[in-house]
Amino acid sequence: MSDARTRLDALPRVRLGFFPTPFVKLERLGRLLGGPRLFMKRDDLTGLALGGNKTRKLEYLFGEALDQGCDSVVTGGAAQSNHCRQTAAAAAATGLECHLALGGEPPESPNGNLLLDQLLGAEIHWCGDGRKGERIPEIAEGLRHEARRPYVIPYGGSNALGATGFVAAVRELQGDLKKERVEADHLVVASSSGGTQAGLVVGLDLFELHTRVTGIAIDKGETEGPTYESFLADLSNELAVSLGMPARYGTDEFLVRHEYLGLGYGVVGELEREAIRFVAEQEGILLDPVYAGRAMGGLIDLIRQGEFSPGETVVFWHTGGVPALFAHARDLGSQAPAS
Ligand SMILES: *Cc1c(COP(=O)(O)O)cnc(C)c1O
Repeated sequence: MSDARTRLDALPRVRLGFFPTPFVKLERLGRLLGGPRLFMKRDDLTGLALGGNKTRKLEYLFGEALDQGCDSVVTGGAAQSNHCRQTAAAAAATGLECHLALGGEPPESPNGNLLLDQLLGAEIHWCGDGRKGERIPEIAEGLRHEARRPYVIPYGGSNALGATGFVAAVRELQGDLKKERVEADHLVVASSSGGTQAGLVVGLDLFELHTRVTGIAIDKGETEGPTYESFLADLSNELAVSLGMPARYGTDEFLVRHEYLGLGYGVVGELEREAIRFVAEQEGILLDPVYAGRAMGGLIDLIRQGEFSPGETVVFWHTGGVPALFAHARDLGSQAPAS
């Protein structure tokens, strides 16, 4: 294991965010819900152009991009992708050109993350139905034809190298827990392209913490092919091997709750609305409508169902995404039509 920790430290990494992020106790929320002790890891405050969990992945991905002498990066996602916004900021900070393959069509007045992508100088390639970076290879190929050196970052930054950011995050968490003199029984986190959950699970093994991760699924899996859990197992095995750890992960290691998908990715329902208002009013903390709001809605429901016992400690990992609130003003404002 010490060998794996040495490998982790030896990887090229660009400092893009401010770490450690705050680790806070949710006193009021915990009391009101009457369940386990609640803490929050504030990765909405990673600091890179309004923050978010992708900054941790991008520190390693940009480390490799600069190491390889690349002059541009290509990635993709939904029009309101937090990953794309943080990638655009990382590219600006490191002097690389940024190309984003975004789902949808150009809107009349861009807002939320898309507005920020533009302010950060990213070049946007509109991709219609393809909101998962399907056109990334084609855009990278085009750049190579122009004798450019693009660095390709997959959807969500979720390859083994990106997920490494969350292995390192567990070491940070270990320090947070020590300071607070608590042990975490559970981590609850929004899970979508998988790098966050896979990295956390491998990191918990590497740093020998006995904490169970519950991923709240944000997006429906593909209807055919491997399940999300087997994707997480494959990614974790690849990540483990890259650090010199055994590839011992099976689907059983990954607890994913699929029952909070509502009407699908990015569709704000009562679950998200209630969770966002509740946490804003009771803690003064903003959640996003697509990821952290849904994950918190899931956590609140799991607490109400008695999934965690009162003596346990649960850490909610706030993954950021707050700029998307503004793109969902119609779904969240008090004048929103009751659904
Ligand atoms: C990308 C993202 C997630 C999910 O992380 P994955 O590593 O893709 O599973 C959660 N929350 C926010 C705000 C995100 O942008």
